[in-house]
Amino acid sequence: VKTIGVLTSGGDAPGMNAAIRAVVRTALAEGVNVKGIRRGYMGLLEEDIYDMDSKSVSDIIQRGGTILYTARCPEFMKPEYQEKGAEICKKHGIDGLVVIGGDGSFRGARDLAKRGVNTVCLPGTIDLDIACTDYTIGFDTAVNTAMQTIDKVRDTSTSHERCSIIEVMGRKAGYIALWCGIANGAEDILIAERYDYNEEVIIDKIKKGRKAGRKHYIIINAEGIGDSYGMAERIEKATGMETRATIIGHAQRGGSPTVRDRVYASAMGGMAVDLLIKGATNRVIAYKNDKFVDYDIDEALSMTKDIDQHLFDLAKKLAGNF
Ligand code: ADP
Repeated sequence: VKTIGVLTSGGDAPGMNAAIRAVVRTALAEGVNVKGIRRGYMGLLEEDIYDMDSKSVSDIIQRGGTILYTARCPEFMKPEYQEKGAEICKKHGIDGLVVIGGDGSFRGARDLAKRGVNTVCLPGTIDLDIACTDYTIGFDTAVNTAMQTIDKVRDTSTSHERCSIIEVMGRKAGYIALWCGIANGAEDILIAERYDYNEEVIIDKIKKGRKAGRKHYIIINAEGIGDSYGMAERIEKATGMETRATIIGHAQRGGSPTVRDRVYASAMGGMAVDLLIKGATNRVIAYKNDKFVDYDIDEALSMTKDIDQHLFDLAKKLAGNF
């Protein structure tokens, strides 16, 4: 390959900048040119493309977000736009493309690969919801942000002997909720994968806990399981325990990436360039069984995964609701 393009697509995640930096600097070190494509597939179709040098990625490894910006581009699901995207890559001399994003972005990359653009994808999402990999760029930072926030809410919740419902991200994937449930010692975890929400049961546990001398009660709610504010009102009414809802929200998407997100994103970015130089295409880089590996995009998209049942059972035991 002579010129590698790089773009970030879908939801942003801390560590994407570290990945971009690694792509740019590894390519330059190997004598390959790099072009940045702004705003994902949207920017590709608009030809928002610029030459990157080593300085283009200075001072970004410690920053959250993505210097390339990101976007959703629904048109890109249509073959005529995929065709146009492939033509634009050719026009700009881009013969290798690194796509950093989630499953949706991988599909777009596969469609470009079919049209002759060599593509390699990196898993970038705070939700950890990519089946082929045990690690995604951004999860570690997001879950640490959520954990630290929950610790703070817990302090004040204990002082006031309150019940707290804390809503974290993960509408379809409860990894942040599950990990925080364990790390923060939550009394209850509500996640989509193990939907067993029953307010009566929760209310009963809170009442029992109060009698037994519990000073607080923490419920971690993965967004979308229920309206946290409404839940808080009903629980307060039924238990007499003051109950507040906190929605952590977009703070989980930002912030300075953790060491793990910086190092793994760098490793994956470097590996993407190595693969493209070897002539690989239609690949996804993953972290599996403590190793960086790569899969065919279609194979990766056909995989499924579930939250760790052992961790889920453990979280319930550690909550100590006996
Ligand atoms: P993520 O990459 O985080 O899963 P999305 O699902 O929103 O986020 O996908 C990001 C972008 O990838 C979409 O806006 C679209 O441009 C492209 N994309 C998603 N699904 C497809 C598809 N089936 N075919 C082609 N491109 C797709």
